[in-house]
Amino acid sequence: MKVPMVDLTAGYPPIREEIESAVKKVFEKANFILGTQVTEFEQAFAKHNGAKYAVGVNSGTDALRLALLACGIKPGDEVITTPFTFIATSETISQTGAVPVFADIDPVTYTLSPESVEKKITSKTRAILPVHLYGMAAEMDKLIAIAKKHNLKIIEDTAQAFTGKYRLADGTWKYLGSIGDCGTFSFFPAKNLGAFGDAGAVLTNDDKIYEELKALRNHGSKVRYIHEIEGFNSRLDTVQAAILGVRLKYVEKWTEMRNTVAAKYAAALKGICITPVVPDNRRHSFNYYTIRFETKEQRDNAQKYLTEQGIANQIYYPIALHLQKAYAHLGGKRGDLPNAEKVQDTVFSLPMFPELTDEQIKIVTDAVKNSMAK
Ligand SMILES: *Cc1c(COP(=O)(O)O)cnc(C)c1O
Repeated sequence: MKVPMVDLTAGYPPIREEIESAVKKVFEKANFILGTQVTEFEQAFAKHNGAKYAVGVNSGTDALRLALLACGIKPGDEVITTPFTFIATSETISQTGAVPVFADIDPVTYTLSPESVEKKITSKTRAILPVHLYGMAAEMDKLIAIAKKHNLKIIEDTAQAFTGKYRLADGTWKYLGSIGDCGTFSFFPAKNLGAFGDAGAVLTNDDKIYEELKALRNHGSKVRYIHEIEGFNSRLDTVQAAILGVRLKYVEKWTEMRNTVAAKYAAALKGICITPVVPDNRRHSFNYYTIRFETKEQRDNAQKYLTEQGIANQIYYPIALHLQKAYAHLGGKRGDLPNAEKVQDTVFSLPMFPELTDEQIKIVTDAVKNSMAK
């Protein structure tokens, strides 16, 4: 039996009427650009995350771009980030004119290693950009301490981790994306909270950054046709905001369902391969469920076997960014960031979505087991 990576059709029927009525209201009022639903969604999203402000934008990529600019990142600045992520994280750094500086990852959580970050700091460093990869929080306490010591901004790439949480050293639980100067989110359909198209948002607790973000997403203007700065057309579409407003009410339940799937995967794969380790100060959002093997050969065999069985799977990410041709000019080479290189060669991700059935989980885990026995 085939098992897909995600099943985007499964989430729609149970809430069809609510979505269709929300969308119809937009159609009837024709308030397509920055309609009231955008503000309503922004307020609900900020509240959900325990943050002061949310600004809706047109993608997770633009969320990063606008967050970097609103945090004052300028040409020639250096921003330290992880090489083990989607290229949107680093291309937005380059596109502001700054330089992405890749630090290594932690070999257990696959997120940015604070120790490696510290080694990469120079007089040009202005920000740290951790990615909460697959839905797992980066080690925020240590990153915050480094940022304080060196007067750096923190921008959290939370594209894969809405509903993920982190318990700070003082004992308070925080939603990911609400901890740094900015948290950026993607509502690409396959993320934990998916729109029916492209959409994104930025969270911040800072009044000045908030004002800057609002101007940047709308051609740099706070008052129509008055431009203190240049900006972009990167507004959150009202139709998408209306859909997101409905879906937001269900996202916690979906993350619980994802965590249940993850627990079943972990139980079935115990002793077979390395399953995600979730430290007790974090709540994983399980946007992806990623397993790891001791060797590249085992990983490649398992991947090939699952594909032959019609079980979807994906390597997030097969080539760390410092080894990509797009960054050849930065001079990265094999051996520079050994943890990222080891992990890119030994991970792959299994089907993961809230509605995954016990039968599907068994098919997937049996296939992983069989591939190891071969
Ligand atoms: C999806 C994703 C993005 C980009 O989001 P879009 O909405 O597709 O632009 C950025 N960073 C990471 C880590 C992502 O997974």
